[in-house]
Amino acid sequence: MKKILMIYTGGTIGMVNTPQGYAPQKEAFHALLDQLPELHSKAMPLWDIVDMDPLLDSSNITVVEWNAIGRRIAENYNAYDGFVILHGTDTMAYTASALSFMLRGNGKPVILTGSQIPLCEIRNDARDNIITALLIAAGGQVHEVCLYFGGKLLRGNRTIKYSADDLIAFESPNYPALAEAGIAIRYNRAALLPPSRGSFSLQPLENFPIGVIKVFPGIQFELFDSIMTERLRGIVIETFGAGNIPGHANSLLPIIRKASENGTIIIVCSQCPHGTVSLGAYETSSALKEAGAVSGYDITTEAAVAKLYYLFSRGLSTDEIRVRMERSMRGEITIEPGAEEEV
Ligand code: ASP
Repeated sequence: MKKILMIYTGGTIGMVNTPQGYAPQKEAFHALLDQLPELHSKAMPLWDIVDMDPLLDSSNITVVEWNAIGRRIAENYNAYDGFVILHGTDTMAYTASALSFMLRGNGKPVILTGSQIPLCEIRNDARDNIITALLIAAGGQVHEVCLYFGGKLLRGNRTIKYSADDLIAFESPNYPALAEAGIAIRYNRAALLPPSRGSFSLQPLENFPIGVIKVFPGIQFELFDSIMTERLRGIVIETFGAGNIPGHANSLLPIIRKASENGTIIIVCSQCPHGTVSLGAYETSSALKEAGAVSGYDITTEAAVAKLYYLFSRGLSTDEIRVRMERSMRGEITIEPGAEEEV
């Protein structure tokens, strides 16, 4: 019999109505779970649940909570066959990305899920998301950090929260679903990562100063000069299309050059959820590379932020981080299948 550990972090899934609006409440959520006989059916794996303290609306998640979740998994790694993390939807894609990097050598299923409507409501998506996430965690097919939501299992570090109100709230715009839960749970075996060859360890994260800048028509880059060149260690620039910046880019390039010389890592991502950055495809992007920026290819902003935290926390040199940002470590960038390099 497989054994799964559920880690309840907060989020809508376990919230109840309070005079101040929906808020997480441990006892109420446990009582609701106890009222679901399906969770104790013979078809289900054995499961335990632990609660994070405090329970959070996931908008409040920081590296401190990522480390706490990672520690819970590490402490219980050998005792359980898989993990289900119950989490708010707002930052679930960030947490899934962060855990995918932090859990080095992970060979077990770590499935994040949550819901758009809390379990306490008659109409809710919490029940199916919990049951199916538990079944997938016990299914023995998955060896990576994933997100299950609305009938689809997605690679965690490929996801974005796409809808604020649909029950299918997440997308993986640049990588196929790992499984679809229709009448049966059908796995896309070719898309799954193989079990890691390394041994398991947890890399905690430090709160390095990282920024995300979204380019828009008329942006006055000079306003960001001192932040970019003196304050931040890593910057994700969300550019237009395939990596383009506005024509008056000359004001950005000296800033990027100065920031790079100071050891700041600058990653070029796209505002388009689908497709890849291709530095040099247009005149407006080739100068970015020359100034010292690196390409994020088709990485999501969520995964780029998490990867920066991770690589800084590993204590790698600036040059090494630049190289690693352009290579896939946990399937977060599209490159040749099987070319992932564990770092
Ligand atoms: N604000 C909530 C959270 O992220 C939203 C949700 O869970 O759907 O914690």
